[in-house]
Amino acid sequence: MDRMPVLFAGHGSPMNAIEDNPFSERWKTLSDEIPRPKAILSVSAHWFTRGLCVCDSALPLMIYDMYGFPDALYRVRYPVRGSKAFADRTKELIGDDLLIDNSWGVDHGTWSVLCRMYPKADIPVFQLSVNASASAREHYETGKQLRALRKEGVLIFGSGNVVHNLSRVNWNMDGGYAWAQDFDGFIKRNILAGNDENVVGYRSAGSSAAHAFNLLDHYAPLLYVLGAKDEADRVTVFNDACVLGSLSMTGYLFA
Ligand code: ZN
Repeated sequence: MDRMPVLFAGHGSPMNAIEDNPFSERWKTLSDEIPRPKAILSVSAHWFTRGLCVCDSALPLMIYDMYGFPDALYRVRYPVRGSKAFADRTKELIGDDLLIDNSWGVDHGTWSVLCRMYPKADIPVFQLSVNASASAREHYETGKQLRALRKEGVLIFGSGNVVHNLSRVNWNMDGGYAWAQDFDGFIKRNILAGNDENVVGYRSAGSSAAHAFNLLDHYAPLLYVLGAKDEADRVTVFNDACVLGSLSMTGYLFA
């Protein structure tokens, strides 16, 4: 392996950090399919910022950015180190548009999945934000600028959800609404066909796109990941499902 894969995980509820279910179980085995990274660059839906930011702290803060969950979730510790060297390298690749910001650190978009994949917390993690003012196309182009990190041993990890509409969540529903499944299916078909244009131009999915999300925060990490992959990658779909009506847990590994 001369370069690292790229990964997108649908993180769903923060409870996946401590609840054993098919999704969190799958994350546990996923790390066996990936060479051990030197560092993980996590693009988290939960760091939605004005401008594009990176954390270059050697000891990133652990952020509990979720409310009203059981105490056990706030007792989760994921004490990873950061990576100043790879944050600097990321700044070199992206240029002056990238701002350094250590007021945030490692949030639940990142730790809820990585505490399953790498429970020893022994791989450095540094977060890149989702620029709230960027278009889908711009997120995708930013992903392309990150490609070189793969050859340097960095796992580019996007954490979000293809379908994420909290105002429509139904806690009593196992699967997804028809429109959620339609949108998730549309994105999956296009990813499997290598048709990134329809993923960037997600509105071509039709009416389901209008319900899938209200903001790009959870969708954008997928666009960074798609930008960072290339024609030589093969895609694996994992956790292929919608839950609670309006969330998609579907994940993609490109290697
Ligand atoms: Zn989330």
